[in-house]
Amino acid sequence: YIETRVRSHCPYESGRFERCLFSSLDLLYQKILSAVSLSTQIVKNRQDREDKVSLWLDEFCRQLTEVISLPRSDLKGIEHQEEHQEVTDIEFLSSVMNDALDDLRDKLKKDFSGADLSSFSRQPHTILAEHFEGCWEQCPFCGAVCTNTVLGHDGDHQVVFHRPRAVMGKLWHGTDHLAIDICSSLVASDCSFVIGDNVSIPFKKYSDAGPPYSTWNILPDPSMQAYWKWFVSHFRTQLEALYNKKFQGKGKIPEAWRRITKQEALSELEE
Ligand SMILES: [Zn+2]
Ligand SMILES: [Zn+2]
Repeated sequence: YIETRVRSHCPYESGRFERCLFSSLDLLYQKILSAVSLSTQIVKNRQDREDKVSLWLDEFCRQLTEVISLPRSDLKGIEHQEEHQEVTDIEFLSSVMNDALDDLRDKLKKDFSGADLSSFSRQPHTILAEHFEGCWEQCPFCGAVCTNTVLGHDGDHQVVFHRPRAVMGKLWHGTDHLAIDICSSLVASDCSFVIGDNVSIPFKKYSDAGPPYSTWNILPDPSMQAYWKWFVSHFRTQLEALYNKKFQGKGKIPEAWRRITKQEALSELEE
């Protein structure tokens, strides 16, 4: 799922992606360039110091701390080399840096052209998925994702808030009426659901249906989040079109749901 979203979110056509990389590169280039010139300005005025190169490098790293991670120790090599060659002309050092930066930028631009998501050494969706570790099991009735934070956890899957089953396009058996009820109220009701070859099972005994039903612990709770009420009535037309079914009969949306405002729905989620 995350992979699909990442792909649709990212400027996929390589032209846009390229421009995106180029503008980051330009920004970085400008910042390094200004660090070079600032460091040069500062060090030039320090007539008292002999170790100008070292001073310059100190300043250069300090300027860049917020832009890139560049440990001062990585630059020891330059320092020694420069001392060896007795470089004392800071202007010279600065112009060498500028030239090197230009070359580097041009080289990177060449590398970036034609780049797409596959150029990343670690795929963005993998990185994101690692932040969302946990159980991915979905409620067989409504599709809500288990909230357990351990993948392959012991015990049953659980989620506090189930959704109206219509969100998954579920119907009342034998009709084309979308089911607006949520699992947690259904398991307290006298309704039944149908699996396989027309086998009807009461919601109250849902675990008799075997896996995946039996791997879930759905607690009876008649309340439904205002968010889902708002969602179903707000996106009614889209849901009906998506599943080519109707909110009718048993699936008729209560008048009260339509009065819920987006603000009410969202503020409930923020609680
Ligand atoms: Zn559910
Ligand atoms: Zn789970």
